[in-house]
Amino acid sequence: MFADLYVGYPLETGFTYRVPPGMELSPGRRVQVDFGGRQTTGFVYRVHDEEPSDFTAKDITGVIDDGEIFDSRLVELARYIASTYVSFPGEVLSLALPSGRRPSARFRVPFERSDSGPVTFNSEQSRVYDDILSSYDSGTLAHLIFGITGSGKTEIYIELARHFISMNRSVIYLVPEISLSSQVFERLYNVFGDELIIYHSHVPATQRLHNWKRFYSGEAKIAVGTRSAVFLQCPDPGLIIIDEEHDGSYKENSSPRYNAKRVAFYRSRKEGALLVMGSATPSLESMYAAESGVTGYHELKTRYGGARLPGVEIVKTSPNRPSDMISPILKLHTKRAVDSGRQAIYLLNRRGFSPIVICNACGHVVECPDCNISMNAHAGNVLLCHYCGLKRPVPARCEKCGSDDIVKLGSGTQRVEETVTKDLGVRVFRLDQDSARAKNAVHDLIEKMKNREVDVLLGTQMVAKGFDFHNVTLVGVLLADIGINMPDFRSAERIFSLLVQVAGRCGRGEDPGMVVIQTLNQDHPVFRFIRDQDYYGFYRSELSMRKLLGYPPFSRLARLLVRGKDEERVRETVNRLRDIVDERIRESGMDVRILGPSSAPFTKIGGNYRHHLILKAEKLESLRSVAAPVRKLLNPRDVYLEIDMDPYDLL
Ligand code: ADP
Ligand code: ZN
Ligand code: ZN
Repeated sequence: MFADLYVGYPLETGFTYRVPPGMELSPGRRVQVDFGGRQTTGFVYRVHDEEPSDFTAKDITGVIDDGEIFDSRLVELARYIASTYVSFPGEVLSLALPSGRRPSARFRVPFERSDSGPVTFNSEQSRVYDDILSSYDSGTLAHLIFGITGSGKTEIYIELARHFISMNRSVIYLVPEISLSSQVFERLYNVFGDELIIYHSHVPATQRLHNWKRFYSGEAKIAVGTRSAVFLQCPDPGLIIIDEEHDGSYKENSSPRYNAKRVAFYRSRKEGALLVMGSATPSLESMYAAESGVTGYHELKTRYGGARLPGVEIVKTSPNRPSDMISPILKLHTKRAVDSGRQAIYLLNRRGFSPIVICNACGHVVECPDCNISMNAHAGNVLLCHYCGLKRPVPARCEKCGSDDIVKLGSGTQRVEETVTKDLGVRVFRLDQDSARAKNAVHDLIEKMKNREVDVLLGTQMVAKGFDFHNVTLVGVLLADIGINMPDFRSAERIFSLLVQVAGRCGRGEDPGMVVIQTLNQDHPVFRFIRDQDYYGFYRSELSMRKLLGYPPFSRLARLLVRGKDEERVRETVNRLRDIVDERIRESGMDVRILGPSSAPFTKIGGNYRHHLILKAEKLESLRSVAAPVRKLLNPRDVYLEIDMDPYDLL
C-alpha cells in the first residue's frame, strides 16, 4: 500500500510514500516521514495501491495518530487557502492541525460553573435573533450584526449556539484575543459546561490535540478560540460566530497569510453553516458588503437594559512633562469615580513599558538603527528595540546636537501604573501583553474587578476588547495620537474603532459613563466622529475617501515585499520584481495597477531592509494570477519575498 501526503514545507504537491507491512494507516492521520534527510510530519490524504512508476517510494517511518483527526473537507480547505493566498497546502495543514503528539486532558477550569439559564431577550434582540434564523432558513448564510457596545450581541450569539447545539450541530466561536477568549470562555462555560472546548496558541500542544479530537468526534459541541480555531473540524458545523469582526487579528501575519473571516465564509458555503459576524464598529469592508446585500444585515441600536452610551470629552494634552500624563480633568473624574465606589479603565495606546528618550534641545529621538522605530528606556539605563530586541545604553549626549539635556518622555504601562498609584492613591491592575501571559491573569483580573479590589484597570489595546464590567463608569485614553498618523490607509479606521470600543467599556451598568480622551491633536477630524460615537458618519466619510483613492472595498490589494540584509540587493530585487510583474500584466491583459516600488514605512526590521510593491485590481483573481508565478520567475537569492493577498496593514 501507498500513501499520498503533504508535508509542512512550501511545496505545491503531495508526495507518495510506502506503507510498510503491518502498519495500519488511513487518510486523515499524521505520520512521520523522512523528507530530504529530515524527519518531518506528513498529512495523509489518500491511501492506495498504485505503486509510483518513476521512483521508489520511501517507507513511512511511523504513525502519529491512532485514529483519523481530519477528513477530506480540511484537505480541500487547505488547497483553497493555498491558492487564494499564494501559499501551499502542506503549510496550511501544518498550521491548521494541532502539533501535539499525545493528547492530554490535563486542564482544570479555574472557576465554578454557574448556569443562570436562558436570558429573556428584549424586543431588539428577539427581532435580530428571529430574522437571522429565518433568513438562514431561506438560504442567506452570512450575516453582519452592527450593535453598539453593550447592546447584547454576545447574548444573541449564545442563544444561537444553544439553538444549533440542540439540533446536534457544532458551533465555532471566534474571538480576536486570547485574553478575550478567557472571558468569553467563562461566559460560555457557564452555559455549555463540558460541551465547550477552548482552542488557541497558549493552550499547551498536547491539550490542544485533546480538544481538537473531542471537537472532531462531536463529543464537544462548541469551541471558542482565536483565528486558527476557524480550522477546527467537526461532524456538522451549524454556526460560526466572529465576535468583534473588525479586529485585525483575524488576519494571519505570516505564511499562509489567510484571513479567518474569509475562511469562515468559505466553510459556511461549503458546509452549510450559518455565519454571524458582529461588531460595534464593523470594518468598512463588512459594512459595505452588508449594504450591498452580500450578507444579511442587522442592527442593535440601544444598550441592553436601557444603559446609555457614555459622554466623550476630548482634552488637549502636552507631551512634555511626565506629570502631564494624566490631565487635571481626568484626575478629577477618576477621584470622583473612585470616591463613589466606581471603577475606571485607562487605555495606553502604545506598545511598550517605558519611555522613549528625546533630546530636549533638538527634539531628536533615539531610534533603533536596525528598525527605524524609537527605542524604549528600561531599568538600568538600557534602551531596547521592541522590534528586533537590540539593546544599548542610554546615550549621555544627543547623537545629533551633542546636548546633554536628554529626557525620557511618555511612559509605558509600568510607569503609568506607578504614577497613578502614587498620584491618585488608587489600586491599579495592569494588563498588557506581558502581564497577560501569566497563567490565569485575565481570570484573576475578572475576579478582582468583580470584587472591587481594583480601582483603575490600566492597559494597552487589550482593555478595549469586549470586557463587560458593570461598575466601570470612567474611561481615560492617555495618549490617543499614537497610531493616527501611521502611514497606512486603515489608520483612521483603526483609531476610530479602538476608541469607540474602549469608550464602550464604561457605563454598562445603571450609571452613565464618561470618557476622557487626551490628545495632542484634538482637531483631527476623526475625533468628531468619536465624540459623537457616530459610526455611520465615520463610515460615510471614510468610504468616500477610499472610493476617491481606489482603496478597499473599492479594490483588492496585494503586497509583494522583499526583505534582506543587503539593501542594494533588496532594491535591485524589487526592481526586477516590478519588471516581472509588469510583463505578466501586459501578457495577460489584466487590469492590475502597480504602486511602487518603495521602501515600506517600517523600512528596516531586525536588520532586514524592506521594500515593497503594492498591486491593485478590481478582482482578487487578477491579482492572484499575476502574483502566483512571481516566486518562481524571480527566484530570489539572499533576500526573501513575502506575498500578501488582501493585506491588513501596509507598514
Ligand atoms: P455586547 O456583546 O453587544 O457588548 P453583551 O451581550 O455583553 O453586549 O450585553 C451587555 C450586558 O447586558 C451583559 O452584561 C449581558 O449579560 C447583559 N444582557 C444582554 N442581553 C440580556 C438579556 N436579554 N437578559 C439579561 N441580560 C442581558
Ligand atoms: Zn539634540
Ligand atoms: Zn530594532
